[in-house]
Amino acid sequence: MSYTGPDLEPPRPRRSPLRRPLTVAVAALVPGALLGWGVYAAVGGSDGGGDAAGARTSSAAPSEGAASASDDAKKPADSSPSATGKPTASSSKSAPAGASGPLKGKVVVIDPGHNPDNFQHTSEINRKVNVGTHWKECDTTGTATNAGYPEAKFTLDVAHRLRTLLEEQGATVKLTQDGDRSYGPCVDERARIGNEAHADAAISIHADGSGAGNRGFHVILPGAVHDGDADTRAIVAPSAELGERVAGNFVRATGGAPSNYVGDGTGLVTRTDLGGLNLSTVPKVFIECGNMRDDKDVAQLTSGTWRQKAAQGMSEGIVSFLRG
Ligand code: ZN
Repeated sequence: MSYTGPDLEPPRPRRSPLRRPLTVAVAALVPGALLGWGVYAAVGGSDGGGDAAGARTSSAAPSEGAASASDDAKKPADSSPSATGKPTASSSKSAPAGASGPLKGKVVVIDPGHNPDNFQHTSEINRKVNVGTHWKECDTTGTATNAGYPEAKFTLDVAHRLRTLLEEQGATVKLTQDGDRSYGPCVDERARIGNEAHADAAISIHADGSGAGNRGFHVILPGAVHDGDADTRAIVAPSAELGERVAGNFVRATGGAPSNYVGDGTGLVTRTDLGGLNLSTVPKVFIECGNMRDDKDVAQLTSGTWRQKAAQGMSEGIVSFLRG
């Protein structure tokens, strides 16, 4: 995720009161998956206060500005979607007819964060859209590693791996974009795609652009919002369950630790400032898979083997959520 403009607003330090009990409940259901998780949660200690969110904002903001600039400078010209200037309507893929498996009949929407070609369409993606609680940019370029590997390429690669895994389980999978449109979609449309698909679960894939030394993944859960077109009250609880299952399985699949800079060691952060969550009417989470500005995280994020493990963790979390 890249936080420019209004995204720099400090995330509100509110947390779902359900989070801690649900974490315990999930731990009881999937003890193997959450063995390491429990250790990190314990080390994280008290859930109170908003220190993590504040630290995130102060550490992320300067590097994010640099990230956007270097995105533009270093972006390799290696992708070639339609350059019509208009989004195409074909950014979806469905499971083959007759798919079988435990997720048969289930719909999962995967939202690969950003778009590899957003940087070529700054005026379009800077257009403000209403996310219920406020207006914010249509989309952002995303961050990149110091060597120039863009977040948008990472998110699309992981999305493809995740799609394959979920389709193998029989799910119908739809992507919000598949490198087949010249920019975006805007954050409001990303939410709308999940809503109109009546998704049983939706996940937005990102990698963070924080300071060196900040490591690990975190899952972002929607906080309760009821303002304008945004009303997340019905999805807060199921999204928390989805997020906790994704986080627990992500730990198991990757062997990695939750974020050491947000979430108090739980790998879970609740936010009310993200349009993609605020406008969702279906259970949805974001996942920041790691920090593209930390060398150790980058070694993982740039590894296809690691990205497969990451997708596996997400898939197992989603399967766990959908099977109940
Ligand atoms: Zn992102």
